[in-house]
Amino acid sequence: MEYRKLGKTGLPISALSLGSWLTFGKQIDNSTADKLMSIAYDAGINFFDNAEIYARGRSEQVMGEILKRKEWPRDSYMVSSKVYFGYLGKDAKPTQRGLHRKHVVEACNQALKRLQVEYLDLYFCHRPDREVPIEETVWTMHNLIVQGKILYWGTSEWSAHEIMEAHAVAERYRLIGPVMEQPQYNMLERHRVEMEYARLYKTYGLGTTTWSPLASGVLSGKYNDGFRPDTRLSIPGMEWLKDSALVEKNIQVARALGKLATRLGTSQAVLAIAWCLKNPNVSTVILGASREEQLRENLKALQVQSLLSPDVMEEIEQILKNKPEPPPYGGA
Ligand code: NDP
Repeated sequence: MEYRKLGKTGLPISALSLGSWLTFGKQIDNSTADKLMSIAYDAGINFFDNAEIYARGRSEQVMGEILKRKEWPRDSYMVSSKVYFGYLGKDAKPTQRGLHRKHVVEACNQALKRLQVEYLDLYFCHRPDREVPIEETVWTMHNLIVQGKILYWGTSEWSAHEIMEAHAVAERYRLIGPVMEQPQYNMLERHRVEMEYARLYKTYGLGTTTWSPLASGVLSGKYNDGFRPDTRLSIPGMEWLKDSALVEKNIQVARALGKLATRLGTSQAVLAIAWCLKNPNVSTVILGASREEQLRENLKALQVQSLLSPDVMEEIEQILKNKPEPPPYGGA
């Protein structure tokens, strides 16, 4: 395993990590989740990603049970949760979601219970909350660190401007600011990580724990010859994801990448993950897997990085044709 620093912190994080969205407590049975965690841990993965909203808390429960059974030393791995969405239950009350102090504290306490741990290593604000003063959220996260309930806090899908606002508040009141962001990053979705956050890496030492390296499976090439049942995009309720991911443009790109992967002697999934790893501003690429074979395969991306020479990277650019460019001088 390769270890990187989480942004400017001294924390070594494995370059690949494992997430649980749509899988733990939902798509896969608990014994598969157990095996995935073991494969990951044995390969040197030290970060497991979770959130209050995943399977409405069941993902954290399942992960918590597994962590308890494994008895891995608590100082050998990291686990996260994310706050904002609450449970989205029909009977949810207004206080049960958002980034105000009440929900952030309650959600943290609930995540600790479900995960059966004494502290969260990483705690993310899952989305910005424009109805809550940023001071309130920054103070709350700072206090959770002081109380020992979380070690590091960060954001997910916040704009660069919103992250800078949080830093300004932290500096003004001498509080601990956010150190990592969790953005989507893959060959089809590049702008935030490559362009919008560019100054934040330099100015604040922002770390990134990036999500959906395979664009929910599309970049594995599994849909190159048409739609496949028994996949994420066939899960009832995920029609919105299917509609946005399985568009002709993406499939054409995936087919072209498939040919390149074959020429390089690797799989398309591994190529797509290795491409994410090549970005030095990525602290860890969070993998998702519904089967053991997928995770074992995806771990090969660590070695395949070395095949991605400048010439190969340029060839990939020619296929993707989506390199983010800064706006022209004076442009709006
Ligand atoms: P991916 O884009 O890599 O999608 C993972 C899915 O792709 C798997 O569940 C599987 O789905 C399929 N897959 C994986 N490997 C292969 C393979 N080798 N061959 C074929 N199919 C494969 O990542 P995720 O979207 O799962 O994101 C990773 C993690 O990031 C999440 O678990 C979560 O922790 C985090 N995340 C965070 C978000 C945020 O807002 N902060 C949002 C989304 C994710 P299947 O077999 O069912 O088709």
